[in-house]
Amino acid sequence: MGLVIALNKGRIFEECLPLLAACKIQPSDDPKKSRKLIFDSVSGGHKIIVARSADVPTYVENGVADVGITGKDTILEYGDDMTFYERLDLKIGACRMMTAGPVGVVEPEQGIRVASKFVNIARKHYQSQSKQVSIVKLSGALEIAPLLGLSDCIVDIVDTGNTLKANGLEARETICDISTRLIVNRASMKTKFDAVQLLIQQLEEAINTNEAGDIA
Ligand code: AMP
Repeated sequence: MGLVIALNKGRIFEECLPLLAACKIQPSDDPKKSRKLIFDSVSGGHKIIVARSADVPTYVENGVADVGITGKDTILEYGDDMTFYERLDLKIGACRMMTAGPVGVVEPEQGIRVASKFVNIARKHYQSQSKQVSIVKLSGALEIAPLLGLSDCIVDIVDTGNTLKANGLEARETICDISTRLIVNRASMKTKFDAVQLLIQQLEEAINTNEAGDIA
């Protein structure tokens, strides 16, 4: 039975395609050349939806996609009431969710102004430390917020730390480790059990091969 698979566009999409190809799931058109957002798979009767990150959990929760592949950051930001299953760590897109601020500047103890795209993650983090914060929601280029005096610090994804450094910021606390995950719609887990299990099993094998450096 074919699955509807929602994939986070951008970096995750590019990194996932070789893993899905190893599971014999390949889009019929070249996604790099096509402006289509839904692709049929060459075999297996699957459909691949290319979605914005925040929409992947929404599609899976509402059952328009049976499974989704997106970052742990997106899943955490979506909320705590998990209305889908998180079933697999694809061990790609590894990075950290961190707090960061201007080099050498001490953060105020209370009343910290935090800029982030990840407002739920940021709020929860500071709440767990019983710190009062005001959160400024931005949709990108968070590093600029402290430079403009809009915030004292930011909560953002850090990989190499080069972006922080280039903007005079330093990493402070690690909130959590992030990587790409497979999520599954609750009903599909029952109604399409065999197909979902097969995908999980094949992905696990592909991930192991990938870790061994055998997938391009
Ligand atoms: P870096 O300069 O390597 O620390 O990368 C930081 C920038 O790249 C941030 O603006 C992040 O939003 C983005 N980034 C790095 N790694 C990832 C990832 N695995 N997933 C999504 N965004 C990422």
